Amino acid sequence: MSLAGAGGDGMKFVEREAWGAPSSSPATYLPSARGVKIHYLGSPYTSRKHSLCDDYVRAVRADHLANVKENYVDIAYSALVCEHGYVFEGRGLHRQTGANGNQDLNRKDYAVCALLGSSGFTKPTDAMLNGLRDAIDWFRTHGDAGTWVGGHRDGYPTSCPGDPLYAWVKRGAPRPDGGKDDDGGTAEEKYTVKAGDTLIGIARRLNVGWNELAKVNGMKPPYTLYVGQEVRVPHTSGGPRTAPPYPGREAFVLGRRHPAVTELDRQLVRLGFTRHHDGNGYQPGPLFTEYTRRNVSDLQRSRPELASDPDGYPGPLTWELAHTLS
Ligand SMILES: [Zn+2]
Ligand SMILES: [Zn+2]
Repeated sequence: MSLAGAGGDGMKFVEREAWGAPSSSPATYLPSARGVKIHYLGSPYTSRKHSLCDDYVRAVRADHLANVKENYVDIAYSALVCEHGYVFEGRGLHRQTGANGNQDLNRKDYAVCALLGSSGFTKPTDAMLNGLRDAIDWFRTHGDAGTWVGGHRDGYPTSCPGDPLYAWVKRGAPRPDGGKDDDGGTAEEKYTVKAGDTLIGIARRLNVGWNELAKVNGMKPPYTLYVGQEVRVPHTSGGPRTAPPYPGREAFVLGRRHPAVTELDRQLVRLGFTRHHDGNGYQPGPLFTEYTRRNVSDLQRSRPELASDPDGYPGPLTWELAHTLS
């Protein structure tokens, strides 16, 4: 999914809030930069499914916040790019990085980190190179970055970003040959519908926008699916999570059934708010039970904006957050 203000139509962008960081970075304002420095993780890393990439980015942020020596206020990088070509917003536009080695270097360039290891997964994929290029272009177009591009090791004693990635940087960080992920329109997966699936449920599981999924498959409400149906999954999806329209308070009445309760339950399960159940585990279903209400209440208590009234009955904001939180 492309985003207003993103580097190009093909950029697969994951906003801070979509991966679980506060919406804006508290880091120092940066009016402009010489350019962009490329980094890697510098630790062992293994190739993984994209659904696990946001977990990893969250872990990097937690690791940085716990770093007493550096006293980081936020994840250190300006952006991070996974092997699938997604650009995770780090400190973002016009924020000083903490990753370049010292304050002078931090003021000089943005810092973009490839989720690439010093062992394990060490060679960038074409999708990753395209994502890195998207990030560079984004900082140039919207963050007043100049045209300089280099590696962390330029002007600082480190092996970062590793030899394979540094070789690409020294060639000027070009789009890889073929660039099949460049416009995102060609790479595509298929998903086979199983019993109990809903369009929105599939979208959640695959981390794609449900409205885009509907569009790509030419579906219109009420989005009827049949078991065994092949659904096209666009690679360009994966932007910020979106919530379907709020079904109204009348959908959530104790002892009553409503399809929206099943949908709500799927989000509770996705987010892990399932400790109240009848002894057989918490399962999605249309009946709004006391267990549902208590699990919703747990969700509400976990969020400052909802915690003042954790009654367990979803209002519009609870509904929205249940879908958009990671
Ligand atoms: Zn580095
Ligand atoms: Zn990924």
